[in-house]
Amino acid sequence: MKFAFVDGIRGEATTGTRGICPGCGSPTLAKCGIKRLHHWAHVSTAVCDRWWEPETEWHRAWKNLFPTEWQEVRHVAIDGEVHIADVKTASDTVIEFQHSAISPLERGSREAFYDPMIWIVDGTRLKRDLSSFRQEITTCAPSAETKTRAWVLLDHASAIIERWRGGSRPLFLDFGDVEFPLPWLPAMGVLWLLHYLPRERVIVTPVLRQSVVDHLLTGTPIKGFARPMPVSPPRSPFPGFQAHLMRARARRPRF
Ligand SMILES: [Zn+2]
Repeated sequence: MKFAFVDGIRGEATTGTRGICPGCGSPTLAKCGIKRLHHWAHVSTAVCDRWWEPETEWHRAWKNLFPTEWQEVRHVAIDGEVHIADVKTASDTVIEFQHSAISPLERGSREAFYDPMIWIVDGTRLKRDLSSFRQEITTCAPSAETKTRAWVLLDHASAIIERWRGGSRPLFLDFGDVEFPLPWLPAMGVLWLLHYLPRERVIVTPVLRQSVVDHLLTGTPIKGFARPMPVSPPRSPFPGFQAHLMRARARRPRF
């Protein structure tokens, strides 16, 4: 965890301090080594939120894009079960940053527990995920029926798409800054929005990562990439003159 209570104040881990877990109220110890991110760990082996996964640099970097008071927000279900949401926005949308593998059952429980919510998924955990995803995208033409550039794929088209099928919440894949062999797609700052449809299909839309962050911060629209304009025949800068020439030619005597 990034935050625990120290003398009643929520704070980050600093060397040698003890705190209280905001989730379960049990004592925590600051872990400030050089290998892992500074974090708080329970003194006992108790796990108060069974959904919690060890934080990676990736988690921390994402969380830090949002105000600290939005990070690690405690939720209690009617049955007393406690969970700590990675980020909860001002409009009460929970953002879950998922690096580890997750079973469909656990994913379903989280989607039921947090409503509304979105997933941001680390696409770099397994190397082959990016290659198979890229392969699908580049061998398939973008769909013509969407406003921005997007693909309609089968939901078992690539492993990472298949693993996440069956979900009911918006999901953004984060492959980090990698190049796709598509001239219109920047190599930096892109996320891939997956929208699962009935009948085993999924719409895959590249969007600007910053526009997703801005959307969550202030509600501005998420931006995709514009479709190319339909190609029309080149027009003469002087249409009247062109017509006049045509008429003059038609009047010319033929030999
Ligand atoms: Zn706890």
